[in-house]
Amino acid sequence: MSLETVRSYWLICLEIVKMASKSKHVAKGRVTGSAGRFGPRYGRFNRKMVNESEKISRAKHLCPMCDTVAVKREGTGIWVCKKCGYKYAGGAYAPQTPGLKVVLRTIETKGE
Ligand SMILES: [Zn+2]
Repeated sequence: MSLETVRSYWLICLEIVKMASKSKHVAKGRVTGSAGRFGPRYGRFNRKMVNESEKISRAKHLCPMCDTVAVKREGTGIWVCKKCGYKYAGGAYAPQTPGLKVVLRTIETKGE
């Protein structure tokens, strides 16, 4: 190996390291999690929204009947408790929505 080939070899190595560190820097701003399947598409804000709603919809929630954290999403707006089997309607992606609080308050005041 001549000195010239060694030098060009090192230059290529340096370039690869530079590229790798550059791509790492880009990956820093990515929103990871369940929205990672979209890659760089749809924008950072939209991916963040999907990520948050999926985190909530996939997690277990408190059952209003037996007070155990066993409620899971069965379909759009359908929530089922895995322990007591209690099935109820909720938000599409969360068991409780801000609108539910308003409804409950209205029912309470109407009942008095
Ligand atoms: Zn339950």
